Amino acid sequence: MTKILYCRDAGFDCDATVRGESTQEILDQVRPHAAHAHHVEVDEPMAKQLEGLIVEA
Ligand SMILES: [Zn+2]
Repeated sequence: MTKILYCRDAGFDCDATVRGESTQEILDQVRPHAAHAHHVEVDEPMAKQLEGLIVEA
């Protein structure tokens, strides 16, 4: 089962999607994307919020 996080769902005007086999795998990719593309550091509260936005593919 693939999990997907749509960056747009996190409130950014961004068409990036992050795919992974697990929540952790997705968060590991989201951190550098958020830092580079949005200059946002994913702290623990934000990570929890993002977890809730992950959907099954
Ligand atoms: Zn983005």
